[in-house]
Amino acid sequence: MGKAVLIPKDEQEKMKELFKINQFNLMASDLIALNRSLPDVRLDGCKTKVYPEELPNTSVVIVFHNEAWSTLLRTVASVINRSPPRLLREIILVDDASEREFLKASLENYVKTLEVPVRILRMEQRSGLIRARLRGAAASKGQVITFLDAHCECTLGWLEPLLARIKEDRKTVVCPIIDVISDDTFEYMAGSDMTYGGFNWKLNFRWYPVPQREMDRRKGDRTLPVRTPTMAGGLFSIDRNYFEEIGTYDAGMDIWGGENLEMSFRVWQCGGSLEIVTCSHVGHVFRKATPYTFPGGTGHVINKNNRRLAEVWMDDFKDFFYIISPGVVKVDYGDVSVRKALRESLKCKPFSWYLENIYPDSQIPRRYYSLGEIRNVETNQCLDNMGRKENEKVGFFNCHGMGGNQVFSYTADKEIRTDDLCLDVSRLNGPVLMLKCHHMRGNQLWEYDAEVPGGSGTARGTGVSLAESRDCLGWKSPPRSQSPPCARCPPCH
Ligand code: UDP
Ligand code: MN
Repeated sequence: MGKAVLIPKDEQEKMKELFKINQFNLMASDLIALNRSLPDVRLDGCKTKVYPEELPNTSVVIVFHNEAWSTLLRTVASVINRSPPRLLREIILVDDASEREFLKASLENYVKTLEVPVRILRMEQRSGLIRARLRGAAASKGQVITFLDAHCECTLGWLEPLLARIKEDRKTVVCPIIDVISDDTFEYMAGSDMTYGGFNWKLNFRWYPVPQREMDRRKGDRTLPVRTPTMAGGLFSIDRNYFEEIGTYDAGMDIWGGENLEMSFRVWQCGGSLEIVTCSHVGHVFRKATPYTFPGGTGHVINKNNRRLAEVWMDDFKDFFYIISPGVVKVDYGDVSVRKALRESLKCKPFSWYLENIYPDSQIPRRYYSLGEIRNVETNQCLDNMGRKENEKVGFFNCHGMGGNQVFSYTADKEIRTDDLCLDVSRLNGPVLMLKCHHMRGNQLWEYDAEVPGGSGTARGTGVSLAESRDCLGWKSPPRSQSPPCARCPPCH
């Protein structure tokens, strides 16, 4: 029933050793049956829902690199045991050049004993999850493709609501609620239907509370799918033909990272939608560290993928990423002309449309005056979030011009933001704190009233100048004609 596994004291040394192999408690996982039972964590309203008899069938594609035996085969077992046979066309395992011996002949022999066709494809060389998934997708025959990580557990009724939603609208890409399988004890814990996907200035995927507007749109019915700005990426279903139409994945991305936001932006900007189907629950082992190597270096790979994503889909808003991480602009991201041509041919909407219509509560403000450092020109000190968290004081530090903690944005709502936090003066003459932005002005409203003839400086990084932003807004200088129309500013008057 998804209960925690507790390892006796005298085994704990060994347990810690084994933990390092996959960055989860392998000893615990190996003690659990491959077909363990799980609690039914669905909302009551989901348990009684009736889905059409006729649903598209799915191929389940699971890519893995050096995955553990027990987690991989528990994933497979849970798919087989909890999917109606008529809906499960096949399971495709794509081995991304694993080195472990047991993933070779033993795995092949094992899957032959299963009652559902399981195919194993092998990448000739380490390719990363993106190209491995592309390989699995290309070989798949189902009407829908369902991607899962190799350490998941599907729960009762997980599949029908996903497929039913795709049947209703084939341009909807659907994710289950991702429940948490503890990396420590393998306890199964229900995920929340009240969080959805977003991202921050560094282009990290993040969970945020489902905003009120989305609750209102669903008239408070939590069993209806949540429209989500982004997806976590590991677990989702997509109509097979739609996957092709919308441009599959960016095959120029390596190993891991960025592909989830890339697909999220692409789907929304190019006429599809992305939803979390709250009646579908699938567990996933969330890890605190990556067990495998990143050929080329972790930072390099992720920055490259993120650059590809920013260059193709984010228009001028890529500055938020570049100004906060100036070093990133040195990373070679290869050729994105094919992806840009895709965006062109699909007639996709601009990123500002996405921010306005799909993600208005984004950490990236849709309209802003400026982005960069806030410098005291006398002392040469800069406002600095000091890596501090919510509710703490904003700091001052020597300007370093390296972006990071010294990047702020003065938004059209007259907030001064650093990612998801806003400068706030809750107390008269009190310290300036960094609090969650509330968009209610009040203590988070900042007026800029200085006379700055000719502009006072240039934001660092790729250099969005303050002067340029002011022109769009007609601050102190008369508006200049803008070409092309300034995406990040309110219209000039
Ligand atoms: N993976 C892969 N090749 C890689 C990196 C990852 O096939 O080079 C697989 C990995 O085994 C897993 C999936 O891709 O099944 C997602 O990776 P991971 O679980 O590490 O990502 P996370 O869940 O931490 O985002
Ligand atoms: Mn994973």
